[in-house]
Amino acid sequence: MTSNTTFLPTAIPLPIPEEELREIVSKSNDWALMHGAAMRSKKAFSEDQVQFAPYVLIPSCFPRNEFNKAVALQPILNELMHRAAHDEVFLTETLRETKQCDEFTGNLFKIYETIQAEGVTQRISLGLFRSDYMVNSKTSNMIKQVELNTIASSFGGLITYRTPACRFVLSQLGYGHLNVNLPENNALEGLCSGMVEAWKIYGNENAVILFVVEEVTINICDQRFHEFEIYRLSPRTKVIRRTLTQIAKGAKLGPNNELLMEGEQIAVIYFRAGYEPGHYPSQSEWDARLLMERSQAIKCPSIQYHLAGTKKVQQALAKSGVLDMFLTEAKKIEAVKEIFTGLYGLDFDELGDQAVQMALDDPERFILKPQREGGGNNIFGAAVRTTMLEIKDLKERSAWILMERIHPPLSKSYIIRPGYSGLPVLEDVVSELGIYGVVIGDSQKILVNRQVGHMLRTKLSSADEGGVAAGSGSLDSPFLV
Ligand code: ADP
Ligand code: MG
Ligand code: MG
Repeated sequence: MTSNTTFLPTAIPLPIPEEELREIVSKSNDWALMHGAAMRSKKAFSEDQVQFAPYVLIPSCFPRNEFNKAVALQPILNELMHRAAHDEVFLTETLRETKQCDEFTGNLFKIYETIQAEGVTQRISLGLFRSDYMVNSKTSNMIKQVELNTIASSFGGLITYRTPACRFVLSQLGYGHLNVNLPENNALEGLCSGMVEAWKIYGNENAVILFVVEEVTINICDQRFHEFEIYRLSPRTKVIRRTLTQIAKGAKLGPNNELLMEGEQIAVIYFRAGYEPGHYPSQSEWDARLLMERSQAIKCPSIQYHLAGTKKVQQALAKSGVLDMFLTEAKKIEAVKEIFTGLYGLDFDELGDQAVQMALDDPERFILKPQREGGGNNIFGAAVRTTMLEIKDLKERSAWILMERIHPPLSKSYIIRPGYSGLPVLEDVVSELGIYGVVIGDSQKILVNRQVGHMLRTKLSSADEGGVAAGSGSLDSPFLV
């Protein structure tokens, strides 16, 4: 539970009268479905059915200055992540203890070490990043970074269709004049243009883009939107979708380390899976990951980008003096520092011991995070203390980080969930903003560095986590105030 009393305004006067509400929900549900802002159902999975993704009917307010700040910051964060990922000493030092006690990070790091030792075949990396923020009501509503995703940064597809959906809803309700407060969002085009640029850099018109996907894909529309957008931008660029298990069985390296699969050469690999242990049911999937990394294909992300996106690296970047290693301009360093909230390592040293004590003394102030992605892995509230007591004397303590909890301001909103036929009621919600960035480059130079769009996710203020795919968040658009 967030101990919170600050409220943001609402975009339009709420509640909406019952009859009007019934009609607009019905219209906007159909709008969402017919524009593909949808997912497959986890409960009643079927490959030939989708349902609209949970969404917020009236866009949530977000402070305009903080939104603009996050947008402006993205190229700096892209640069920071790119540089940190290409610093072998920094990555090795930062992950030294973590990789020993967290098997998953250890496996990723082994691939990284192998490639470094053998020599890198493809020096170019493609990053499709998403930096996530919450406004912190405890620090005069300034944004604080939740995390920065370097792998499978999702929802760029679905979210692109939420802005016009919100405009439609506001217009229908007689507030069309307010639509100027919904910033344009071209996340899908931006992300896909990054993939197309990487495909062009690879330089073989016949080579394809490989999407690495899960055995079962719930978030299919988001992924297909990327595929279809790539086609729109570059009709010659073909996309294939394969699981790590299929890649393990079917892929091999050619004489010049080309990645070959089913008669195709792979130019770009876009990972929408591979970020959690369950995606690697056996050693074969790890072998496949290594094979891809050894290949000439441009990886999104490369193994060093993947490692740079770990929570442990986020925590290391927040340590005093570290940003100076990667960014030169004082103004940029200051701007990045401003978005960090308290981040503490739990290595077996004096600072680690202090962090353990802080968490035991005041567990509600913090969140414990393991080196995991995809939602549902963090520890909140009183459990921070019990978990800390369990791990504090174990080696695996270093696999976690401790993060200060951000307390976003509340707002009132209608969350529309699929499968619920009743009228929605106003609920207390909080939002998390994501800004997408594209970066392409190698250890020497950055070729492409852009901010390409945004997403907003909103959840009940009583929920700890807010992942849309994980089932507790809903798609939203920032209404700037
Ligand atoms: P993941 O990589 O699994 O998405 P996150 O670090 O984004 O991990 O955490 C998942 C969710 O937990 C976030 O979307 C947010 O709702 C919540 N959360 C994470 N860190 C914080 C924080 N410092 N303060 C408040 N909520 C947080
Ligand atoms: Mg997250
Ligand atoms: Mg993440």
